[in-house]
Amino acid sequence: METKLYNNEIAFELSTKKIEEERQGETLAVERPASVQSNGKKFYIESYGCQMNFADSEVVASILANAGFDSTTQYTDADLILINTCAIRDNAEQRVRNRLQGFNIVKKNKKGALVGVLGCMAERLKEKFLEEEKIVDIVVGPDAYRSLPALVEEAETGQKAVNVLLSREETYAEINPVRLNSNGITAFISIMRGCDNMCAFCVVPFTRGRERSRDYRSIIEEAQDLYNRGYREVTLLGQNVDSYRFSDDKTLVGKRLVEAKYEEGVVNFARLLEMVAQIAPDLRVRFSTSHPKDMTDDVLYTMAKYNNICKYIHLPLQSGNSRVLEMMNRTYDREWYKNRIDAIKQIVPDAAISTDIIVGFCSETEDELRDTMTMMEYAKYTMAYMFIYSERPGTLAAKKYKDDIAEEEKKRRLNEVIQLHRIQSLESNKADVGKAFEVLIEGTSARDENYFFGRNSQNKVIVFPKQSQQPGQYVQVKVTDCTSGTLIGEAV
Ligand code: SF4
Repeated sequence: METKLYNNEIAFELSTKKIEEERQGETLAVERPASVQSNGKKFYIESYGCQMNFADSEVVASILANAGFDSTTQYTDADLILINTCAIRDNAEQRVRNRLQGFNIVKKNKKGALVGVLGCMAERLKEKFLEEEKIVDIVVGPDAYRSLPALVEEAETGQKAVNVLLSREETYAEINPVRLNSNGITAFISIMRGCDNMCAFCVVPFTRGRERSRDYRSIIEEAQDLYNRGYREVTLLGQNVDSYRFSDDKTLVGKRLVEAKYEEGVVNFARLLEMVAQIAPDLRVRFSTSHPKDMTDDVLYTMAKYNNICKYIHLPLQSGNSRVLEMMNRTYDREWYKNRIDAIKQIVPDAAISTDIIVGFCSETEDELRDTMTMMEYAKYTMAYMFIYSERPGTLAAKKYKDDIAEEEKKRRLNEVIQLHRIQSLESNKADVGKAFEVLIEGTSARDENYFFGRNSQNKVIVFPKQSQQPGQYVQVKVTDCTSGTLIGEAV
């Protein structure tokens, strides 16, 4: 998963960007289970970064609620302030550091108030976080959230509390996430944690540890429970969903696990996808993120077989040039990636494809940037997350390569791919004018209360005038107009 961090200045993504941005720095209200005694303390949690982090915040909220905490959406009112951090880019970390300064006022006014940092930046910096940011009392890594209530008790004695142990087993499988600020219609389900790839620019393997897949039965149970509670769309989340492999036989590891078949008791991603799709035909299923190296035709045939598996794939490219891909240690080359695009277009012809692109990677030449742009023209992405290369401490690239492309030059290259993508997504949307799509209504448009918004199977946002429908319902919408980011239509 190439964490999607948005920075207006250097990143560009169409329609859902607005939705996502509204989530950045999100505050949450949580119901404490009636059976649990209140401990008289309130927590406030704010999340940054990728969907995985937002899903983790839902697990953290559940752990704290079950430990007797109530929640608040006002940090000035909190006894425990938590920031779930992202470390994917330097500006993501700067954002967190700036945000932390905003809590000094609480520490001044509220005796005993504690500040804790969670997530990838906490794992990357560990104890150093306490030295660098004096306001921080608690540092917890992505695999240590169960220990949070105990760490709070420790910090209440005046000590600094840290747990950044990474685990090979932890999947929080049986913890029922508390849906935060949810629209009651769409939800994320994390199916695995960690990543075994070692892309040269990425911190995730160091901050989220080795890959481990969650028991498929707990995933099915969670999806069924969401459906029973009225949710009509689930997104299966993983850094690299295609390497999902679960077996009760714990002796089956590594290559043997990868090669073992369903008949031998191994559930792979295609099989899991099918099981979730079979829960109910009106439960939409999405997933993120795929990896070109591991995405099999099995997954594509399963998508083609079920209407309720959405026809949308997020397939990060990063670069369109084989030499740069090799330096990035992406383990596929330009031809392999092209083959995956061809397979999608052949097996799931109505699928939309989105991607992640990094420009300005170490020693990238102008011709190699062209290769990225010609691949964009070949794949015709409907959405793209585009970034300039940001060197991350401790990564393979930081150790081996010089970050030799000037910042201004990086930004020039980024603007080139942004311009190309803007043209492509407008063309893609224009081609949808006149077509009708089944849309799952997610809520009222933020721009006009007389309009609903929702998405079609291809993950495109569509707005249309309200009639008698309700959020959570499916409606046929005929597209009458568009912008480069949004389709505009009317219910038919
Ligand atoms: S190492 Fe590669 S595949 Fe894994 S999270 Fe990072 S970018 Fe994604």
